[in-house]
Amino acid sequence: MAEQDTSMLLSDFLAGKARFAEVVVNRPVDKVFSYRIPARVVEQVRPGVRLRVPFGKTVTAGYCVGVSNVARRKKLRDVISVLDREPLADESMLQLTRWIADYYFCSWGEALDCAIPGGVKRGNLGRLVEFAAPAVSPADVPEIIKNIEKRSAKQAAALRALVEADREVASRRLAQKAGLSSTEPIKALAKKGILKLEKRRITSDPYQQTAVERTRPLKLTEEQQHAMNVITEELDGEKFGVALLHGVTGSGKTEIYLQAIDRVVAGGKQAIVLVPEIALTPQTVLRFRQRFDRVAVLHSMLSDAQRHAQWQDIRGGRAQVVIGPRSAVFAPVRSLGLIVIDEEHEPSFKQQNTPRYHARDVAIVRASMEGAYVILGSATPSLESYHNAVVRKYKLLELTKRVEKLPLPRVELIDMREEGRETKRFPLISRHLRDLVKDALSKKEQVMLFLNRRGFATYIDCPRCGLVMRCRRCDVTLTYHKKRDQLVCHYCNAKYPVPEKCPDCGYEKVRYFGIGTEKIEDVIAREFPDARLLRMDSDTMTTRTGHEQAFKQVASGEVDILLGTQMIAKGLHFPGITLVGVVLGDTALYIPDFRSAERTFQLLAQVSGRTGRGELGGRVVIQTFRKDHFSVRLAAKHDYATFARKELDFRHGLGYPPYSRLARFLVEGERDSGVRKKIAEIGNALKALKSKIRMRIVGPAPAPIAYIEGKARWHVLVMTPTSAGIRRLLADMRDRLKSSSSAKVTVDVDPIDML
Ligand code: ADP
Ligand code: ZN
Repeated sequence: MAEQDTSMLLSDFLAGKARFAEVVVNRPVDKVFSYRIPARVVEQVRPGVRLRVPFGKTVTAGYCVGVSNVARRKKLRDVISVLDREPLADESMLQLTRWIADYYFCSWGEALDCAIPGGVKRGNLGRLVEFAAPAVSPADVPEIIKNIEKRSAKQAAALRALVEADREVASRRLAQKAGLSSTEPIKALAKKGILKLEKRRITSDPYQQTAVERTRPLKLTEEQQHAMNVITEELDGEKFGVALLHGVTGSGKTEIYLQAIDRVVAGGKQAIVLVPEIALTPQTVLRFRQRFDRVAVLHSMLSDAQRHAQWQDIRGGRAQVVIGPRSAVFAPVRSLGLIVIDEEHEPSFKQQNTPRYHARDVAIVRASMEGAYVILGSATPSLESYHNAVVRKYKLLELTKRVEKLPLPRVELIDMREEGRETKRFPLISRHLRDLVKDALSKKEQVMLFLNRRGFATYIDCPRCGLVMRCRRCDVTLTYHKKRDQLVCHYCNAKYPVPEKCPDCGYEKVRYFGIGTEKIEDVIAREFPDARLLRMDSDTMTTRTGHEQAFKQVASGEVDILLGTQMIAKGLHFPGITLVGVVLGDTALYIPDFRSAERTFQLLAQVSGRTGRGELGGRVVIQTFRKDHFSVRLAAKHDYATFARKELDFRHGLGYPPYSRLARFLVEGERDSGVRKKIAEIGNALKALKSKIRMRIVGPAPAPIAYIEGKARWHVLVMTPTSAGIRRLLADMRDRLKSSSSAKVTVDVDPIDML
C-alpha cells in the first residue's frame, strides 16, 4: 500500500504535477500554509501565482511560494482557484521577499504584496480604444471623397476630418469632430478599406509622448575617467559588488551612471536606477531618455494601468533602464546587471510602513542574489555607506571637483547670536542677507531662500548664545513638556529641570523655540514687498504638474524669490539663481535624533550645491545660531571627509550605527496606561535577553512625538553589535510583539525616522 502511494507520488512528480501548495498571505502572520491542489487546477499552480484559498472561516488570496509532493499535515483543505495565468514573482523575487520578511520582521506575504504593484494585482490593463488611420495614399483622397460624397455625406465628413487631423484619431473623437452621432460611418469606411481601425490600450505615459534628441557620452574628466575605469573593470567581472561614488554636487556623477548603464545594456542586461521621489523631475528623466531607447519610468503619478503596462514591459525584457523611487527596487527585470542608487543617503529610501524596508539595503541584497553590481552615489553619503567604504566593503570612488572647473560656491555663515546682540532684537532675516537679497533683486537676478520645516517646536534654547539643552547620556535634544514643566530625553527618559537661566552664558530668558514656515513666509513677503514670491514645498507641490509649472516659472524668470523647503529643491538647478539663503541652518540639529548632525550637514551641503552652476556664479548665506558646530562649519567649507571622521568618532563613542545595529520598538494606543504596560513588557523582555545576546537598551521613553491624534506613543531602542543580534532577539520576542486593540506595536529595524 505504502509502495503504491510512493509510486503515485513519483509519477505525479515526473509529470510535473505537485500535490500541495505552500501559501503565504498578506497579513501579519509569519507562517506558510499548506493546501491540497485539486486535479482541475494542477496545471496552473506554480510558485509566484496567487491562489484563492479557504482561510479560517473566510476565503482569501494568497501567494503560492512553493509546491511539493509531501503533505505537511494530514488534513489539508483544497485550493479554490488560481488567480494568475503567469507568476507575479519569479524565484529570485520569492527569495528576496523572504529575506525582507526575515530581516524587517514582517510576514512573507506582506513583503511579497509590497513588491508587486497594485495595478498588476488588480490586472488593470487600461481602456481599449479604437483608433482610425487613413489606409489610402493622401494623393488619392480628394478623388475618393468626391466619390463617397455622392452616396454618404457622413462618411465623407469622417474622412475629411481624418485627413485634416493628419494623424490617427480615436474613432469616437473622429465622429465628434465630423459632427456624427455614431461611429457607424467610420466603420463603413474601414470595411471599404479606405481607413483602418486598430484597438489599443491607453496607457499613455507623459514621458513617452515627446520625442527626444539623443546625446552622446561625454568625454570624461580625469577624475570621472578614473572612477569609470574601476567601475568598468568591476562590471566586466559580472559579479556582485558595491561602489560608493562620493562626488560633490555637479561633479558629473550622473554621467558616470549613464556610461556604466551603457556598458550593462550593451552586454544585454538591464539596469535599475533608484532616485528619491522628489528627484524624479522631467530634467532627470530626460537625461536618461537622451541616451537610451527604452526607459521605463515608475513614478507615483502613474495610473494603475500605466504601471501595469510598464511592469509587463520590464518583465518582457523590453525596458533597458528602469527609473523610479524606492519601490522600483522590485522591478521585474529579467537579467539584472546594475542598480544605481542616486542620493543614497536620502531618508525617503526607507519605507515608513510595513514592510519597513530600506531600498538601498534591499538593492544590495538583491544584487548579491542575482550577481549584479551596485553603485551608490551621493555628495554626502550616509555614514553607514561611508563606513562600509572606509573598511573596504565597498569600493570608494571620489569626485572632488565640479566639471568644467566651476568652483564650489563660497558659503558665508551669519552668526544670528551676534546679529541679535548688535540689533538688540532677534530677527529672522539678518541685515547682511537682506542687503544681498536687495542687491540681487536690483540686478534682476533670482534668489532662493530655504526653510527647514522639520523644526521642533518644543525645545529650549538660549536666544543669546544659541545653547540647546541636550541629554548628557544620549546627546540628543531634550524636549520641553509643558504639563510637567520638565525637560525629557526621548531616548532614555531622563528628566531634567527647566533651567532658570542659560547654563552656558547665564542669560535669564531662555525660551521655548519653534518656527513655523508660514510665519517666515510672512516676514519675507513684508521685507521684500515688490518681489514675486513662489513657495515650493510638499504642501504646495502636491502634483507632478505643480512641480513642473513652478520649475518653468522660475526658469522663465517669472519668479524673483523662490521659497522652499530643502526637500523640493534638491534635484533642481536653476542657472538664474545667484543667491541662496538659508534662513536657519541649524533647525535639523535640534531634532532628538542621533543623526541630527548628519542631517544638518547633508541639508547645508545640498543647499550649497544648488547655486554656482551658471555663468553668473553664486553665493550662499547660511544664518545660524551654531556657527561653531562642526556640522555647520564643515558644511560651509565643503569638507565632508573631516565631518565624517568627527561624526564617526561620536557614533563610535556612544555605540550608535554604523557601529551597531539598531531596532526601534514603538507602541501606540488610545490609553496611556495600556501603552506603558506594553512598552514595559517589551523593555523587560529585552532585559531578560541580555544574558544571552549582547545588546544595549535605551528607554523605554515617550517617543519624541509623544502623541499623534490623541494616541500616546512610547518607544524603546535596542542596539546590538551585528544584525544577527537583532534577528535573534526578534525571533525570541516574537510572541510579545503582537499588536492588540489597546496597543499597536511597530518594529522598525534600522530605523531612520526616530520621531
Ligand atoms: P552630479 O550628478 O554629480 O550633480 P551632473 O552629472 O549633473 O553632476 O553633472 C553636472 C553637469 O556637468 C551636467 O550638466 C553634465 O552634463 C555636465 N558634465 C558631466 N560630466 C561632464 C564631462 N565629462 N564633460 C562636460 N560636461 C560634463
Ligand atoms: Zn538620554
